[in-house]
This record gives sequence, C-alpha cells and structure tokens, in this order.
Amino acid sequence: MTDAPNYGFDTLQIHAGARPDPATGARQTPIYQTTAYVFRDADHAAALFNLQEVGFIYSRLTNPTVAVLQERVATLEGGAGAVCCSSGHAAQLIALFPLMAPGRNVVASNRLYGGTITQFSQTIKRFGWSAKFVDFDDPKAVAEAIDDDTRAIFCESIANPGGVLTDIPAIADVANKAGLPLIVDNTAATPYLCRPIEMGATLVVHSMTKYLTGNGTVTGGAVVDSGNFDWSASDKFPSLSQPEPAYHGLKFHETFGPLAFTFHGIAIGLRDLGMTLNPQAAHYTLMGIETLSLRMERHCQNAIEIAEWLEGHAAVAGVTYAGLKSSPYHAKAQELFPRGTGGLFTVKLKGGYDACVKLVDSLNLFSHVANLGDTRSLIIHSASTTHRQLTEEQQIAAGAGPDVVRISIGIENVDDLIADLDQALNAAG
Ligand SMILES: *Cc1c(COP(=O)(O)O)cnc(C)c1O
Repeated sequence: MTDAPNYGFDTLQIHAGARPDPATGARQTPIYQTTAYVFRDADHAAALFNLQEVGFIYSRLTNPTVAVLQERVATLEGGAGAVCCSSGHAAQLIALFPLMAPGRNVVASNRLYGGTITQFSQTIKRFGWSAKFVDFDDPKAVAEAIDDDTRAIFCESIANPGGVLTDIPAIADVANKAGLPLIVDNTAATPYLCRPIEMGATLVVHSMTKYLTGNGTVTGGAVVDSGNFDWSASDKFPSLSQPEPAYHGLKFHETFGPLAFTFHGIAIGLRDLGMTLNPQAAHYTLMGIETLSLRMERHCQNAIEIAEWLEGHAAVAGVTYAGLKSSPYHAKAQELFPRGTGGLFTVKLKGGYDACVKLVDSLNLFSHVANLGDTRSLIIHSASTTHRQLTEEQQIAAGAGPDVVRISIGIENVDDLIADLDQALNAAG
C-alpha cells in the first residue's frame, strides 16, 4: 500500500501491508514458500544477525508473506506492530513470555475460552507462572487481585462462550493505575467490532483460526502491540528494559521504542520458542481478512435474529447473546460495540444435559465441531467437550454449564438456520 493517511476499515482490510511484488509485479501477495534468504554479503548477514538492519534471515523468525499479514493485523487493530504465530494459544504464550518469570502471575478473567483457562490454570505452572482468576465485571476485584508479582492483566473483549462483554476502558484504567499491561483477546469480536487499543489495552491477541481467516482452514495466532506502554518506567519488565545477553547486551525498549515488544516477540519469542506461522497459512488468513467486515456484519445480523427467535422458543430456558434487550450487557453493547456483538452465544435448554445432546445430534445444517467463527454455523455442547477438563463450578462460571450449548452463527440464509434449529429443538423435546 502506498502512503495512505485515512483509509477506512474496508479498504485497509484489503490493502494494508500489501504492495505489488517487487520482483514480478504480482498483485496478490505471493506465498514465499522458502526457508532461507540469500545475504548480499557477509556484512549484510552480520548486520541482520545483530538486529542493526531489518530483513529476512530464516523463516522461523520472519517471512515476507507472514510480514504482510503482521502489518495488516497491526493496522486493523491500530497497533504499532504485530507478531504472527502458529495458533491462538501460541499467541498467548508469545504475549506473556517477555513479561513473566518464575514466581510472577497474571490476573485473568474467570470467563475465558476453555482452552485458555486450562493453559493458564495448569500448563503455565510448569514455567513457574500462575494465574489468578477474577470476575472482570467487578473492576475493584481486579484491582484487589493485583500484587507485587503481577505482570499482566488478561481478558477477552467478547468472552467465549457466554455473550459476556468486558468493560475494557474500566479494566484498562485499573491496569494503568497499577503500571501493568492489559492484554485483550479480541478473537470473538475482531477489530471490526472492537478496537481494544483505542480503549486503553496494551496488547491484543488473536486466534486467527476463527473469524480473521473465517472459513475453518487455518490454525494461527497474532499478538498486536499498541506501542504505548513504557516498559522502562519500573523494574518489572527486565526482558524489555534491561540488556539482553543473547544480543550482546542490546536493550529492546531503548533501541526499538514503540516496536520493542514486536521485535522481542520475533527476535526472542519466535527464535527460541519456535511457534512460527507458515506462509501458506498466512496466505489463507490474508484472503479471509479481505472480507472481514462483510462477514462480521452478516454474522451479527443473523445472530441477533436467531437469538431473538430462540428466546421465544418453548424448549429454551435462556439465551446469552449480548445484543439481546434481556442481556445484562445490553447497555454496554450499545456503548462499546455499536456495530454488533458478533456471532457467538450460548443457549440454555429446559431439558438439561440430555436435550443438549439430542439437539446437537438432530441438526442438519449446523455442524457439531470444536470451532467457531466459520462461515458455516456451528454448535457444540461445551460441558462434554471443550470445557470437559473444568470442574462443574468452573464450567458454570465460564458460562458453559451442562444444560448449555454454544452456537457460532454463520453467514448462511437466516431462514434456513432457523428452520434447522426448529426441527432439532422439537426433536430434542
Ligand atoms: C480458539 C480460541 C483460542 C485459541 O486459539 P487456537 O488458534 O485454537 O490456538 C483462544 N482464545 C479464544 C477466544 C478462542 O476462541
């Protein structure tokens, strides 16, 4: 893209980061299916390895196709830079890695994607890290959970799976007062519906597996840095503010300023953890992002219509879509998510666990899969699948109790989706 001061979202989702291929003029971004890049000479190689010059060395660190995607995602989120990686879960580790150390903790929302609760409550303990789970509807509780060892605050903009919205400005205020970075997982909202950095977030993470790619073809993740956080304001973030022994004592924050976190994520995170996105996957995600705004509009339109219809159905005990007038988040939705609240919600059935299982088995058009954010409509019974590793108490706190199914509304004809739900609900009794 040539210098483009004020292009709108629909333009940027197609053009940001991309330019005609300098070698061939190819208009679409080529898939640079290469492992390594020829150095001009020995001095060029040395400068690249010393981070004195930016360029391509080896595709575990950087690749031109992935670089276009990084610039596009950073632009859409309004960030200074982005690091793409192999999955959403990888993105969470790449985001936490420069901040954490043995004995340090992250204060996290108790309503998160089931896999993230497992990653944070179990697996990160192996690194000596821990998470404290708090109800983020109560910013005071978040503030009280912070201690001297806290290094980050973590939440989702629209919490998966429960139709819960986070008051990002209120939480950002708590993080700011504590001198800590706020990390927002913006997977379920996408930058079309929510721009956490504009609301005060420091870092945004994505599972690009979901809406950004949008058609269930790719596993990928991204970390976007706002470039706004002062890593040198305290002694809490030595990886960014202090000399790095693996780069001859280079200080990332002093050297790279607002790009410190992004450079660290590539030069240390991808280099040493190796959770790299491959160029083929980056290509699919770039294709998907070109139509992001159009898809999100339809996801939102279909979701509100179906949520309203389900709310009136005799077999249904409740629907958690934040766009519904009955939702406790309705006012917040108007204020913080004026374009809509996405395609994801849960439905509670009067018939409990058995009715949920029968519903899932009776649907024809909806697919029973552990995914979301696809063009196709998807359904899953979280308690017996994605949230199976959690206690029943954790399941209910996460909005995924035994009598609840999670639905990801696709972009099909809404009448066809309603007809399918109707016949399946009647079959479920
Ligand atoms: C899917 C998902 C993740 C994990 O992403 P993967 O790409 O599956 O690793 C994290 N957060 C949210 C909100 C998700 O929906």
